[in-house]
Amino acid sequence: MIIAERKPLDEIKEMVKDYRKVLNVGCGGCTSICLAGGQKEVMILNRDLKEQLLGEGYSPVLDGFVIERQCNYDFFDELDNMVGGYDAVLSMACGVGVQFMAERYPETPVFPALNTVFCGADRNIGWFEENCRTCGECVLAETGGICPVTRCAKGLFNGPCGGTRLDGTCEVDKDTPCAWYEIYHRLQAQGRLGNILTVKPPRQWQNQTRRSLVQEDYKQRYAG
Ligand code: SF4
Ligand code: SF4
Repeated sequence: MIIAERKPLDEIKEMVKDYRKVLNVGCGGCTSICLAGGQKEVMILNRDLKEQLLGEGYSPVLDGFVIERQCNYDFFDELDNMVGGYDAVLSMACGVGVQFMAERYPETPVFPALNTVFCGADRNIGWFEENCRTCGECVLAETGGICPVTRCAKGLFNGPCGGTRLDGTCEVDKDTPCAWYEIYHRLQAQGRLGNILTVKPPRQWQNQTRRSLVQEDYKQRYAG
């Protein structure tokens, strides 16, 4: 899922302080699950923001609402009837949701309350780890299920850089395991070291234009 964290309160305050009626919209998807932008976080942000703004002499009307997902217009119906009544909207979704919201309501200023940080998994409650940078050409089959784009500081595809420490940590950060050390040992344990003997050609990283994907079963629906 997408992992996000709340922006500093001062930064959010600067975005909205000149608007009298602000609607803070949470998302029931990823940012709710990663404890950054669900119902509870909407309430906490509104409480903190109101307190700060009142303390500085503003008199805001700050309401909260949560929709199931901000990255799908099927969930916007209720919001459509509300947004017109506000001077600005704060979104507690990821950057995708914020952009979708801003596109849906082009007349209304839409501000991000979160920083979208990475694609990751729950390691434990409130603890998330980045696992994928959505490169679009997944190599996990050959690398023992360990992503060299995300977990190697240099994003290397053909083995370690030569700086791996003797204890198996990365030369860039002694608290981070070397991805290639881990890849090697996992493949060795599985008897699959042959997987990394073929040299991978350089990636075409310069081709990083905006991507869109239609799943195979839906291609007919959007054809033409
Ligand atoms: S190689 Fe890494 S960054 Fe690319 S799709 Fe696979 S997991 Fe994601
Ligand atoms: S030490 Fe390992 S993880 Fe760190 S940059 Fe070199 S190959 Fe990548």
